[in-house]
Amino acid sequence: MNENFVTVAYIVAAILFILSLAGLAKQESAQRGNLFGVIGMLIALVAVTTSKAVHGSGYTMLAVAIVPAVVIGATLAARVQMTAMPQLVAILHSFVGAAAVLVGIGQHLSGHVGTTVAERAVHDVEIYVGVAIGSITFSGSIVAFLKLQGLVSGKPLLLPARHMLNLAMLIATIWFGIEFVGSHSIEDGLVPLLICTGITLVLGFHLVMAIGGADMPVVVSMLNSYSGWAAAAAGFMLSNDLLIIVGALVGSSGAILSYIMCRGMNRSLWNVILGGFGTEGGSSSGSAVTGKHQEIDIAETARQLREARSVVIVPGYGMAVAHAQHSLAEMVRHLKSKGINARFAIHPVAGRLPGHMNVLLAEAGVPYDIVLEMDEINEDLPDTDIVLVIGANDIVNPSAQDDPASPIAGMPVLEVWKAGMVVVMKRSMASGYAGVQNPLFFKDNTYMLFGDAKAVSDQLLTSLRS
Ligand code: NDP
Repeated sequence: MNENFVTVAYIVAAILFILSLAGLAKQESAQRGNLFGVIGMLIALVAVTTSKAVHGSGYTMLAVAIVPAVVIGATLAARVQMTAMPQLVAILHSFVGAAAVLVGIGQHLSGHVGTTVAERAVHDVEIYVGVAIGSITFSGSIVAFLKLQGLVSGKPLLLPARHMLNLAMLIATIWFGIEFVGSHSIEDGLVPLLICTGITLVLGFHLVMAIGGADMPVVVSMLNSYSGWAAAAAGFMLSNDLLIIVGALVGSSGAILSYIMCRGMNRSLWNVILGGFGTEGGSSSGSAVTGKHQEIDIAETARQLREARSVVIVPGYGMAVAHAQHSLAEMVRHLKSKGINARFAIHPVAGRLPGHMNVLLAEAGVPYDIVLEMDEINEDLPDTDIVLVIGANDIVNPSAQDDPASPIAGMPVLEVWKAGMVVVMKRSMASGYAGVQNPLFFKDNTYMLFGDAKAVSDQLLTSLRS
């Protein structure tokens, strides 16, 4: 293909990738966003394969790599369970990291070093940074995959002086980087480059091993960002503008997602980047919560719901594990058919994945316009008659606002206690993910409805219909 067409194709693909990200930001446009991404990637693949960069035996090599990859990728994506998505994403990030390492070493061995000293130095820095980020991404993602898949223990590995160890590895990486850029031959440069690969592999392994299994979703989103920067670095090495743009898009969107998740969980982004994040949470439970809780049964909950004008349902992790979303969707349809304003309220970190609740509710056919984000619904809660909290705990915990000693102090929460009545459906008085007690359960207007979220929702629906 003419190089001008290749450039135009790259621009079109880059625009489609940007539109894809914009589409993915909202449930209503997420499918369209995905489609834009797929079309953009197809255009990019065609443009690359028909450009001057590929010729002769290159086509055979591309076919040998791409055909099995497409078959394996499509099969994996079609078979993966929603709950296994983080593992799949983690292993895919490891491929991006490995690709950046191999491209970097390949570029160094091919000896394309530019004509001036400055060009050579810039090219060497591109290679070195790409290889370092790529190998951290590779080993970190492999560890994340193994933890999420349950193949290694989810417990954080907390070596003594682990931050010093990380710092020492970082300093050594910079040191060998200076050696690499200052080297005068391919052989001289290869040694520091391979040592850097080894050190950063250990660094990625160690950073992610220090993180508890349940905090892995935030780490996966951070590794997503790293994989983007690794791809951008590979783009610089190969002088491929599209790869630089796509890498930067993935890198920055992954970083923004990590930031949003950290803010939603009241964690420090630096703790995630530096490893050992999540190890301090859960050990302390804040100020002790005392009091007596009140219980309610199915029949009384159904009676209260029938008399309500507005109902808000707050789903959490328990709804996901119990697979209660279909019963809840049915319940909301029933309430709406009776003229009751029934809506869902979603906290940004409800469940264990970004968008966990949104995906499950969409799967159950809940219309998007009754699924509201925390910021949209919080001001309506004082005018709400009943809030049904289903398998959620931390995201409705008032101690985040009232108790500075609480491990979740400062985390934004759904202010459900401001509603007329709160019914909490869960199996016991046990704490949630953060391991903190929840004073909501002891408030005068809160009633506990104990049982499995699916079983209780089914019974409630039957009772409402009778
Ligand atoms: P929580 O983990 O705080 O609470 C879930 C509650 O569900 C538990 O208290 C449990 O109580 C109950 N539960 C469990 N199984 C069932 C069941 N089968 N039926 C009914 N109830 C059940 O979840 P939230 O969604 O409220 O909050 C999410 C937490 O996860 C936050 O702390 C967040 O920071 C964290 N997190 C979120 C991530 C994300 O990306 N969304 C990533 C990593 C962490 P009981 O045992 O008594 O039934």
